[in-house]
Amino acid sequence: MPEPSANERTVSQAGTLFVVATPIGNLDDLSPRAARVLGEVDLLAVEDTRITRRLSERAGPLPRMVVLNEHSEQARVGELVAGLLAGGSLALVSDAGTPLISDPGFRLVQAAHEAGIAVSPVPGPCAAIAALSAAGLPSDRFHFEGFLPPRQAARRRRLQALAGLSETLLFYAPARDLPAVLDDMVAVFGGQRLATLGRELTKRHETLWQLPLAELAARVGTDANQQLGEAVLVVAGSPEARSPIALDALVKALAAELPPSRAAKVLAGLSHLDRREAFALIESARKPGPA
Ligand code: SAM
Repeated sequence: MPEPSANERTVSQAGTLFVVATPIGNLDDLSPRAARVLGEVDLLAVEDTRITRRLSERAGPLPRMVVLNEHSEQARVGELVAGLLAGGSLALVSDAGTPLISDPGFRLVQAAHEAGIAVSPVPGPCAAIAALSAAGLPSDRFHFEGFLPPRQAARRRRLQALAGLSETLLFYAPARDLPAVLDDMVAVFGGQRLATLGRELTKRHETLWQLPLAELAARVGTDANQQLGEAVLVVAGSPEARSPIALDALVKALAAELPPSRAAKVLAGLSHLDRREAFALIESARKPGPA
C-alpha cells in the first residue's frame, strides 16, 4: 500500500542523499514526488546542467547544481559527502532515467553508505525496465548487460560469453550502432532467436518490434530512421539452456528417427543452429562411433 505521508517526511529530511529517476524522453513521466524533491533539496548532482535544467519546466526553479560525471565523480565525492554530513540535502540525477544504471553515481552512493548518510531512492523511468515490461519475452529472470564494447572483436567475445544464458538479455545501444550490434548477435546467437527492439521509448517516434534476430537486423539495416536516437535490445535467453532436453540428446534422437535433411530442419527450428550447422551435427551423429 502506498504511504502518502512518507513522501513529506523524506523530502524535508536534512542530510539525505536522494537518488532521483527522471524521464527517458517524455517529460510527463517525471513523478510529482521527483519534481518536489528536485525543487526542495539544497543541491543537485547532475551529469549535464543544460539537460537537467529542462526539468524546471515541471519541477519549478531548481537549486544549485554541481556536475558529477564519469570524469569528475572521484574528485567530487568528498565535498558532496561533507555537505551531506553538515546537514545539507542532495539529489543525484542523470541525464535520463535512473542514476547508476549505466550512469554515474556509484561512488557517491557507496561513500554515503560508508559515512552513515541516509540514502533514499525516488524511483521512476529506466529504459531497460520499460523495454522489458513491453518486450513480450520472459521477465521472471533477466540479465542486464548495458552497453557492449564498441569494437567488433571484443563485442563478439562478450556475446559469446552470454550465448548460453537462459535469462532474457538486456542491452543498451545508441541506435546508430544497431546494424553492427544486430549483425553480431545474429552471428553469435543465431538468426532465429527472438528479440525486441525498444527505440526512442516514450518519445514521438517510438519503435517496439518483436522479431527473430535475423529479421530485426534486416529491417533495421534497411531503414535509416531506425538508426536514429536511443535503443534497448531485449533478447530471449538461450533456448538450449531453457530446454530440459540437452542438445546432444536431441541430435542423437533426431538422427536415429529421421532422414538427415528432415532431422536438420527440425533441429534448426528447435535450436540456435542454422540449417548447415544442424545438418553437420546430424551427419556426425549418424556416423558409427568407435567400437
Ligand atoms: N540510466 C538510464 C536508464 O535508467 O535507462 C540509462 C543511461 S545510458 C547512458 C543511455 C542508454 O539508455 C541509451 O544509449 C539507450 O540505450 C538507453 N535509453 C535511454 N533512453 C532511451 C529511450 N527513450 N528509448 C530507448 N532506449 C533509451
